[in-house]
Amino acid sequence: MKAVAIQQHGGPEVLQVVELPEPAPRAQDVLVRVKAVALNHLDIWLRRGGSGLRPSLPHVPGSNVAGVVASVGAEVKDLAPGTEVLVNPGLSCGHCEACLAGDDPACRGFQLVGEHLPGGYAEYVAVPRRNVVPKPARLSFPEAACLPLSFLTAWTMLVRRAQVKPGEWVLVQAAGSGVGSAAVQICKLLGATVIATASSAEKLARLQELGVDHLINYAEQDFVTEVRRLTRRRMVDVVVEHTGAATFEKSVACLAGGGRMVLCGATTGAEVKLDLRVLFSKRLSVLGSTLGSKGDLLHLLRLVEQGRLRPVLDRTLPLEEAAQAHQLMEQRAQFGHIVLTP
Ligand code: ZN
Repeated sequence: MKAVAIQQHGGPEVLQVVELPEPAPRAQDVLVRVKAVALNHLDIWLRRGGSGLRPSLPHVPGSNVAGVVASVGAEVKDLAPGTEVLVNPGLSCGHCEACLAGDDPACRGFQLVGEHLPGGYAEYVAVPRRNVVPKPARLSFPEAACLPLSFLTAWTMLVRRAQVKPGEWVLVQAAGSGVGSAAVQICKLLGATVIATASSAEKLARLQELGVDHLINYAEQDFVTEVRRLTRRRMVDVVVEHTGAATFEKSVACLAGGGRMVLCGATTGAEVKLDLRVLFSKRLSVLGSTLGSKGDLLHLLRLVEQGRLRPVLDRTLPLEEAAQAHQLMEQRAQFGHIVLTP
């Protein structure tokens, strides 16, 4: 089969079209014919190497897959070839305390399709049956591919970790990203007042369409000053962070007493300064989060079917243009997700 693999660590040019053997599904696996795969920042970290992410090379990235069941393993009796599906990229044992409590990412055997296992920059991907969920009928394959990683991550951050309540103020940093554009929608669903930051007027206009209450162009305005003005000096209850070093300290400064910072990434750098006196005197919480439970993804898909959450698709490119897609992401040229189609 045709695939795009990271041949060595480096710039986008290390993504090469290669010919690989089709994966062979084991007894409890499903072989999915990939129709669309959405990019995620993780793909860039894997390509660059470092940050503790050193997959064995060549590596096929891609954690957000929508496709069609091509074949099933001998023990899979409830899924027929031709079914339109989404892949939940989080693999876990399914029988430990964490898994049974719905806290899959805490499973000691937790792995991610596209990171620890070959991903969806390919014509086929094989995953366990329990990682396959129905594709929302109202969505195209590229739209559906935008859902799993970013929506599940944002849902876990806001619902399970920060526990956002109706009427609270939430600041979503870099809201034009996949996880950011998911977060603002989930915040509105939870009844919060949302302030979103982005770097261009075009992205801010798109965020307004998603229901954001207040917009800040962080390239032109100091977001701490703006948050102070918008909240009449009260500041916000929750900050959604995934940019890291470039914004972290100022994000802390945006929190009201008792505020929660929830973060799932550090795209601009992972080393930050934190004044512990501010942390204890303002009774702040800093909450790390990653992905989420399989059950939560099914719940999210129900909200998508009802039209209450929608995937944010920037553009679709052929799989062969993976390097160009990475370049666009590194330039933050996209709003939502860039999707590749094999
Ligand atoms: Zn487990």
